[in-house]
Amino acid sequence: MNTSRLLPIGLLDIMQCPSDAGALSEDEEASQLVCDTCHYRYRVEDGIPIMMLEEAIAAESD
Ligand SMILES: [Zn+2]
Repeated sequence: MNTSRLLPIGLLDIMQCPSDAGALSEDEEASQLVCDTCHYRYRVEDGIPIMMLEEAIAAESD
């Protein structure tokens, strides 16, 4: 599998959650970005993060 980062270094730093402007972290295994604040997940397809609330995956509560 590809073990490189999802996004170019630096890009993640300037992106923020469209819901609450929270910082994002990479989940490389899931190819998703995860908001540190609300834990919404955003898919990354072919290196392009899908930063739309309509496409966000709500956090599982457990
Ligand atoms: Zn958020």
